[in-house]
Amino acid sequence: MTGIKRMLIVGGVAGGASCGARARRLSEDIEIILFERGPYVSFANCGLPYYVGDVIQEEKELFLATPELFQKRFNIDVRVENEVVLIDRDKSEVEIKDLKTNTLYREPYDALVLSPGANPITPPLSGIDFPGIFTLRTVPDSRRIREWIVKNRVNTALIVGGGFIGLEMAENLVKRGISVTIVEMLQQVMPALDPEMAAHIYDHIKSCGVSLCLNQQVTGFKQGTKGGISVELESNKTIVTDMVLLALGVRPDITLAKQTGLEIGARGGIYVDDQMHTSDEKIWAVGDAVESQDFVTSEMSLIPLAGPANRQGRIAADVILGRDSRFRGIQGTAVCGIFDMTVASTGVSEKNIKRIKTTGENLNYEKVYLHPNNHAGYYPKAEAIAMKLIFSPDDGTILGAQAVGKEGVEKRIDIISMAIQMRSTVFDLEDVELCYSPQFGSAKDPVNFAGMVAANTLRGDAPIAHWEDIRDSNAIIIDVRDPDEFEDGAVQDAINIPLSELRQRIDELPRDQEIFIYCAIGQRSYYATRILHLNGFKVRNLSGGKKTYMAFEQLLSNSE
Ligand code: FAD
Repeated sequence: MTGIKRMLIVGGVAGGASCGARARRLSEDIEIILFERGPYVSFANCGLPYYVGDVIQEEKELFLATPELFQKRFNIDVRVENEVVLIDRDKSEVEIKDLKTNTLYREPYDALVLSPGANPITPPLSGIDFPGIFTLRTVPDSRRIREWIVKNRVNTALIVGGGFIGLEMAENLVKRGISVTIVEMLQQVMPALDPEMAAHIYDHIKSCGVSLCLNQQVTGFKQGTKGGISVELESNKTIVTDMVLLALGVRPDITLAKQTGLEIGARGGIYVDDQMHTSDEKIWAVGDAVESQDFVTSEMSLIPLAGPANRQGRIAADVILGRDSRFRGIQGTAVCGIFDMTVASTGVSEKNIKRIKTTGENLNYEKVYLHPNNHAGYYPKAEAIAMKLIFSPDDGTILGAQAVGKEGVEKRIDIISMAIQMRSTVFDLEDVELCYSPQFGSAKDPVNFAGMVAANTLRGDAPIAHWEDIRDSNAIIIDVRDPDEFEDGAVQDAINIPLSELRQRIDELPRDQEIFIYCAIGQRSYYATRILHLNGFKVRNLSGGKKTYMAFEQLLSNSE
């Protein structure tokens, strides 16, 4: 055994609570004390937006466990409203402030686990402390927002930041009949995705009543004349609103770690190894407060998600109690629902690969876009899923995937997430056997399709081009859709030769010039590419077809 008799845990939500519960399952002998400065442990932070939106109507639904349950079920001494204010590493003690009595006391430890989470970013803007400006991290935060909405009869809200909390809150405020504006500094919402993939949701968000101001920075807040808050933008525009939510992301809470001299990583999180060990042999750290190694790129990264926090808490308990568990790295597998759309991603994005390349790292990649139906097209309510698969052109290893659509989006991303974790290739996706019945999928599932499209490019069967390439190329562009589709809107300078006429009109095409082909989503153009390829033409299929082209166009129109 490890000789650990006393384990203290700082933070009682995702990482801390799972660490405590796992430790008890591994040992009936150690004493476990968990300190939480807030009034609740083990609450559902991920459910908070839905409590604000009244989808979850009772606050008590957010509490997954109480201190009493921890005591009875796990024999863990949970002390809420007790803040750890100091770590004395020389004496292996922590100092705690009992926030109810305002008294300080100390507790010794053999093992200390830090899971203090992260703090919402609040930029030093003028007026940031005005009433009516909120962040969302805790149950009391969500209660304050609910009360403000009712008391002030809120009609309009402005959300600063279009990440997943911003989007989930937009949906939930709209559900309460509030008009929402999202102001986002970047050219896109959902920064985990590449911008052209995020663009697939803009029309939908707008049609649900959300105004989107991309490429806009908030510069300050003023008290509005009729009691509202006047939000000032960099463009000199002002928007008057009844409430503001700051959803600008989070920063790891490293207060205690820094104060006690633990090593802090380059990204600003607590440094830990793959066994969640900090630079002190008696201290472990988990969750949003730590930096983790990216599974795909090996870079250190900060990705604040509940799944990794839970797994890390479990691993820390294992290691403390003598097991050789290791964290495999973080993939950033995430999903966000926005009205009835779903956005999900796993692994590395293209923009991240490009950023890494600027540091001199050589990370080769290729990508494909596709738009398969979520289930068999003949079964009612089939909807397309926009997918992007990023992979190594050298051996087909999958590097990342993104998907946007309605039903079945997260299922596909979860499968690919597992494939990434197994270091699988696009050839494995081609072959994977997945469950099928018409209401759930297709005999060739979107995941198989993604693998096939990617594998076809790697084998040279269907070379691809990307829409970014057309500007710098003198290839001729052929649109193989039907004439009525072509009339409805085509890419500039494209020539229409419908797929059904291609074989008859093949002599119209030049043999000495490159040919780019597109259709609506890339499937008919794939067939056309094969015809021309087998006839000796220099041909490439424009990946994702016009649907992907339109997503890129949307980006351009947003940045104008
Ligand atoms: P937390 O769960 O934040 O717990 C840290 C706790 O430590 C806090 O309660 C804090 O009070 C306490 N603490 C800090 N310092 C001290 C101290 N000195 N003494 C005592 N106690 C202390 N992730 C997803 O994967 N999917 C989602 O859908 C999702 N939705 C989210 C929605 C919202 C609104 C929020 C806020 C987060 C969401 N997350 C989601 C993120 C997820 O909740 C976090 O990644 C996860 O909770 C991190 O766990 P943690 O243990 O590191 O920190």
